[in-house]
Amino acid sequence: MTIQTPVTSAAAGLRTGAAFLADLKASKRCIFVDGQKVSDPTSHPAFREGAKSMARLFDFAAAPENLETMTFEVEETGKRAWRCFQIPKTHADLKAKRIAAEKWAEQTFGLMGRTPDHVANFFTGYAAKPSVFAKSGARYAENVVNFYKYIRDNHLYVSYAIVPPQIDRSKPAHKQADPHLYAGAVKETAEGIYVSGGQQLATGAVYADYIQVSCIHPLQPGDENYAISVAIPADAEGLRLYSRRPFAQQADNAEDHPLTSRFDESDCFVVLDNVFVPWERVFIYRDIELCRDQWWKTPSHLYGNHQAQARFATKLRFLLGLAKRMNEAVGNDGVPPVQVQMGELAALASIVDGMLQAQEVMASYDEEGVLWPSKTILYSVMALQSEINPRMIDIVRGLTGAAMITLPSSVKDFENPESRPDLERFFGTPVLNARERVALMRLAWDFIGSELGNRHQQYEKFYGGASFLVKMNVFRDYDFKRAGALVDAALSLPPVE
Ligand SMILES: Cc1cc2nc3c(=O)[nH]c(=O)nc-3n(C[C@H](O)[C@H](O)[C@H](O)COP(=O)(O)OP(=O)(O)OC[C@H]3O[C@@H](n4cnc5c(N)ncnc54)[C@H](O)[C@@H]3O)c2cc1C
Repeated sequence: MTIQTPVTSAAAGLRTGAAFLADLKASKRCIFVDGQKVSDPTSHPAFREGAKSMARLFDFAAAPENLETMTFEVEETGKRAWRCFQIPKTHADLKAKRIAAEKWAEQTFGLMGRTPDHVANFFTGYAAKPSVFAKSGARYAENVVNFYKYIRDNHLYVSYAIVPPQIDRSKPAHKQADPHLYAGAVKETAEGIYVSGGQQLATGAVYADYIQVSCIHPLQPGDENYAISVAIPADAEGLRLYSRRPFAQQADNAEDHPLTSRFDESDCFVVLDNVFVPWERVFIYRDIELCRDQWWKTPSHLYGNHQAQARFATKLRFLLGLAKRMNEAVGNDGVPPVQVQMGELAALASIVDGMLQAQEVMASYDEEGVLWPSKTILYSVMALQSEINPRMIDIVRGLTGAAMITLPSSVKDFENPESRPDLERFFGTPVLNARERVALMRLAWDFIGSELGNRHQQYEKFYGGASFLVKMNVFRDYDFKRAGALVDAALSLPPVE
């Protein structure tokens, strides 16, 4: 394991982008892509631009002018850490966390979902409620809090794989044909545990310092070995990452693929082959109840998805900006029916934005004084996200007509003296010259129609779990008592004279 304590920026003690890239290069991880084994994502065409985009986030947070927005002072150390690690004590803290998440999301236009602030927020949620872990033994509470402090103080990036693979969902983990198919503990020693099996789907794992392996699916008696939560260095021996098709590799130039070339965050299937995990990195061990409670009896899932909604709201704002620019480019912006469609888009984006802020306004304290964003609000907007997002994309597709397709094959057509005059004549508009118009429409296509764009539609549907599960969360948390009281009141109305 070669992950070093990172070099920090002298100014604020924060990790810089250069330090992040240097650590990434030094950690010899095992990524399989296109039949090759890749150990250094910073130098491979599938991953290197994504790595740079991640690095820019580190620099953004470390820039003196952003320190107050992006970081907070840790009381016990007097040093600064990213806001995602702040345990919110007040509603204003929660708002500050959201603003920091939005700022990072703006750097990638919301296209990188598992930036370092996502899983960090889960660990912040665990650290806010160590009592939940202590039920399984004091050492698990200590381990999770210590790991939280370690990643907070060293500005580390954690991604996670917490969903069992889709192989045979008709049987529980322990009844699969191969007992080590799903990620689980296979051996225990005085020093730690060994973990084997597969788990989906670690977005950003090719860039992360650590991968959390756990299970968010319900487990049954007999599944104890799979009821774990551990943190594993991304270059641990026996850890293999199977990348989905990397889109960035096909994006041969940034002008034709402005987003794909920069923001392909990657998704990896994780295979663990007898990976050793020392006890101090074991947070849950063979405890089905705690494996479930870590998500729902701590605010981890809420903090993590509050960040995810800040990113989603930012991405929708970007989509609105794109649609408006496209309408303006061709003189459609003043057409009333187009304005009606833009109004619908704006209404949907504003619902997501409003629900984000409502999570903060309606946040409440539990009996231990921990502040929880509103569950009902968060899960309601997440449940509708799988309908809102495709609806919005579809409206924008409709608004563009053939404009995203009627484009020269690549920027090279502008370089050919024979084709350039035609392009300049037919591809410009009254407000944009041909090159500007093509750049705008390429941006739109990359966002909506490219492989990256399509992966994003899948991402928005599933990153927080399938929507039937999210709707069950809303069902569990909605105040049906208050709703029912209205029905009782209606049924007991006095007779009409
Ligand atoms: C792009 C992308 C990135 C992701 N990143 C991460 C990540 O970083 N870390 C991570 O751990 N996971 C990640 N995920 C995985 C994600 O958590 C899972 O895909 C998600 O939880 C859905 O699980 P599943 O794929 O097993 O689908 P399933 O849960 O099997 O659901 C698939 C579909 O099957 C049907 N279905 C199945 N069971 C039922 C039922 N009981 N009732 C009704 N309908 C049912 C529904 O139509 C459902 O939509 C990512 C997924 C995507 C697509």
